Amino acid sequence: MSNYPDLQLYIGGAWRRTSDTLPVVNPVDESVIGATPVATERDLDDALTAAADGLKVWSRTAPSQRARIIRKAAALMRERIDEIAFDITREHGKPLAQAHLEVIRGCEFFEWDAGEAQRTYGRVIPSEPGTRYVVHHQPIGTVAAFSPWNFPMSQPARKVAGALAAGCSIILKAAEETPAGALHIARAFHDAGLPAGVLNLVFGVPARISEYLISRDQVRLIAFTGSTAVGKHLAGLAAQHIKPVLMELGGHAPVIVCDDTDPARAGEISAIRKARNAGQVCTSPTRFFVDEKSFDAFSASFVERAKAVTIGNGLDASTEMGPLANHRRIEAMEVLVADAVASGARLVAGGERIGNRGYFFPVTVLTNVPDSARIMQEEPFGPLAVINPVASLDEAIEKANSVPFGLAAYAFTDSAANVDRLTEEIEAGNLSVNTLEASVPETPFGGIKESGYGREGGTEGLTHYTVVKNLSHRMSV
Ligand code: NAD
Repeated sequence: MSNYPDLQLYIGGAWRRTSDTLPVVNPVDESVIGATPVATERDLDDALTAAADGLKVWSRTAPSQRARIIRKAAALMRERIDEIAFDITREHGKPLAQAHLEVIRGCEFFEWDAGEAQRTYGRVIPSEPGTRYVVHHQPIGTVAAFSPWNFPMSQPARKVAGALAAGCSIILKAAEETPAGALHIARAFHDAGLPAGVLNLVFGVPARISEYLISRDQVRLIAFTGSTAVGKHLAGLAAQHIKPVLMELGGHAPVIVCDDTDPARAGEISAIRKARNAGQVCTSPTRFFVDEKSFDAFSASFVERAKAVTIGNGLDASTEMGPLANHRRIEAMEVLVADAVASGARLVAGGERIGNRGYFFPVTVLTNVPDSARIMQEEPFGPLAVINPVASLDEAIEKANSVPFGLAAYAFTDSAANVDRLTEEIEAGNLSVNTLEASVPETPFGGIKESGYGREGGTEGLTHYTVVKNLSHRMSV
């Protein structure tokens, strides 16, 4: 298999090296495997100029042609899946099979949005004879997008797909710690014939780049996925310029387990899902509120499966869960576990870092956790689950809604009446019943409350990348 990529910026259709770089660390053994280029203000100015040129061309390109190029790039990424997945596993740590699925999912985002490019319908509003009112959806302009490290390819894919399908140009600042996924996206679009300047890829010091780009007149939308804290900061910067933002922020997903489901099966499925991406997913199921009649069976099954998760190098075929992506996650797990135990929670699986080289941490289960423990309010963003008994659906819903987040929520139940209540009362952008899949490309994904605003995917996905222009046209003066 190939060496880790030679990372470069991609500006105006050309690759560019920088004098300053940041190390890319393999979380399996903490070895340095690559060097992420750090963009200067000059690079950002060039990216802005290129994006302005790209916008002129791309916004006037027929939607069918835009769709063709996006689909061609996606096809190239599918052809290159082994190489892309291999790079993702080395920089992020996730098992190779999950990296493969991530690339497929990223391609599906491109393919879905390519179709949507041809469906940004406007409308004609009935009017008096001799006059037409016509509503158009036009590309918003140049987008500044910021993608995080947990899904190095599919996270940037969402933003690039939306922007390009809508006819926008984009400057993407992808995660410095996991840059290869975004690099492969840029390579595929370059090879697919995307006009120069439509997609520009930069890396660097996140705060410097976001402050610089958000303040530039030419940037018309800020699209960010990451923590709520950073999202608030960026939304504040954007507000100073009255710029719209698309914010996909933290979550702290509740899972309500009713007494009419198979608790052992639900427990097993939940433990497997908790281990996915080592829990570093904004939709990861974390707060389990289990009907007290099912609590013992659910917890026993969850704990048994959690303890059986095979942890190791993501390149080994037997590995179910790799290391956490960086040392910050290990520290976060240790702090939350210690605090929960000190608050009176029972630690029934995991809880301690594995070894001291590489960022390995087991699936960790805490039960009977008091509401006062930090984990009940703070998103762990790691393989940590809380299982608490509840006396009723009322109590479960109240607990589920008792956090500032509202991204994904889940339930296990066979009762249509329960589903109806949950649909009405759960505060989340996405509710999934009897499955822990929060979204697919054809469904809108996003949060409420401090989980953000705006939606990616579905027919809603391009809304944010377009602006409405109304034409009032009298046939003569
Ligand atoms: P962090 O808050 O420092 O960074 C989160 C992301 O935001 C990173 O990709 C980072 O590069 C970027 N970022 C940070 N400051 C920025 C700025 N001023 N301008 C632009 N981008 C900026 O934390 P972290 O340790 O990297 O990640 C931990 C937290 O981030 C988690 O607790 C989780 O809540 C959140 N996170 C969420 C997602 C998601 O999918 N919603 C993904 C990754 C991380």
